[in-house]
Amino acid sequence: MRVAWQHNHEWESALRHLAIIGSGPAGYYTAEAAQKQWGDDVRIDVFDRLPVPYGLIRSGVAPDHQSIKAVSRRYEGVALSDNVHFIGNVTVGEDITIAELQGLYDAVILATGAPNDRPLGLPGEGLGNVFGSAAFVGWYNGHPQFADLGPDLSGKSAVVIGNGNVALDVARILAKTRAEFEGSDIVNHALERLDTASLDKIVILGRRGPHQIAMTPKELGELGHLSRAWPHVEPADLPPEAADAALDPGQRKSVTLLRQFAAAGAQGKRLEVAFDFFASPRAILGDGTVSGVEVERTRLEGDRAVGTGETYVVPASIVVVCIGYQTSPIPDVPFDEKAGRFANEEGRIAPGLYCVGWARRGPTGTIGTNRPDGFAVVENIAADLAPGSDKQGRDGFDRLAEARALKVVRFSDWKKIEDAETRRAREGAPREKFVSIEDMIATTRNQ
Ligand SMILES: Cc1cc2nc3c(=O)[nH]c(=O)nc-3n(C[C@H](O)[C@H](O)[C@H](O)COP(=O)(O)OP(=O)(O)OC[C@H]3O[C@@H](n4cnc5c(N)ncnc54)[C@H](O)[C@@H]3O)c2cc1C
Repeated sequence: MRVAWQHNHEWESALRHLAIIGSGPAGYYTAEAAQKQWGDDVRIDVFDRLPVPYGLIRSGVAPDHQSIKAVSRRYEGVALSDNVHFIGNVTVGEDITIAELQGLYDAVILATGAPNDRPLGLPGEGLGNVFGSAAFVGWYNGHPQFADLGPDLSGKSAVVIGNGNVALDVARILAKTRAEFEGSDIVNHALERLDTASLDKIVILGRRGPHQIAMTPKELGELGHLSRAWPHVEPADLPPEAADAALDPGQRKSVTLLRQFAAAGAQGKRLEVAFDFFASPRAILGDGTVSGVEVERTRLEGDRAVGTGETYVVPASIVVVCIGYQTSPIPDVPFDEKAGRFANEEGRIAPGLYCVGWARRGPTGTIGTNRPDGFAVVENIAADLAPGSDKQGRDGFDRLAEARALKVVRFSDWKKIEDAETRRAREGAPREKFVSIEDMIATTRNQ
């Protein structure tokens, strides 16, 4: 039941109007937390610049990891609640300003993630066929921004820079055969291109050693079960086995897998996925298009990699840089340039303006890490907001959207897009995604 408060001699509703910007995990966990906090006394509008929800669950998580993508069903449960509305195809900072949103909502929560690649900062980074992982992953996952990337996979050798799970995803996708994508929702344009690839070596470069990898056992273990590719670890790169005892259990499992890879060898497989540890990229080489990566051998001082002065060149016909992400700045929102995210104190940016998820803490942690984040920001909002609201919420937004002729996509429209994607899926695949915003919007009109 709605409560009414007497405030400044007027009766005001205790209803809160929240605008959550971003429909990824952080956005929907925040919506879930707000429902728990205020029950019927909250109206939540979840904005996204795309006409489709779920952020990196749709466009980041690997297409051959469908069980992980299934978390979107939980967000759908939240999205379908009466007091939660999806407002897709609206870019905050372009279609509507932060000040306008703050005029309409009691709290604006930025859950915009970290969609831009962190630059490597090395000569040659702009050469052809060198991609950041946001672009490359977006390409094989059908993100409209990267659908036309067109990586050239006709060469023999790929270099993947980074020693985290994203580097593993990229190497695995490059290594798989067509048959191994069965049941995945990899988009057709990527499947076709990967199918004609003739790579015979993929090198994963890491500045530090096996004990410092940020790869989890499940993802690492998959490399040992590919049909044509084999993981190659140099036994000499592995620390003495006794040193593994000091690792936490997850990391110890990962290192054990690396030891197994070192012992197993090629086993008749032809595509080598080589871990080049203690290898710090110094320059991307090439003339117009990439031909190699100049690398300096490192050694560890404590946990830090320091150069030894010894350099060598790793041949590369394609390079994918997987070293992390940055948030996109939004006009008038304080930004921490060094950290690459919004400037905030535990999610508070300014009165009535908050951030959550990767936009708050940077690109670390798993999907689940965003849940406590969402609950924490709602606790802060609850502590900050005075009771009562004179904001217009969605009614005000709808008027503004009409005046600006914004092509807003509602959750029911998304369900039409989803249905159409399911219907046009190739056999065995859960969906064939639309990769252009125009096609997505046309689908909402056609049915
Ligand atoms: C390649 C890759 C693979 C991953 N695989 C896994 C995995 O297997 N398991 C796991 O646990 N975690 C995985 N993660 C991590 C996980 O995806 C993140 O923890 C999570 O998505 C972060 O949630 P978020 O809501 O902060 O950001 P996002 O998921 O990025 O969502 C941000 C949303 O904001 C929207 N947006 C951005 N700017 C605007 C704007 N100006 N106006 C309106 N909307 C905007 C975007 O369109 C997007 O929908 C992976 C990450 C990557 C990059």
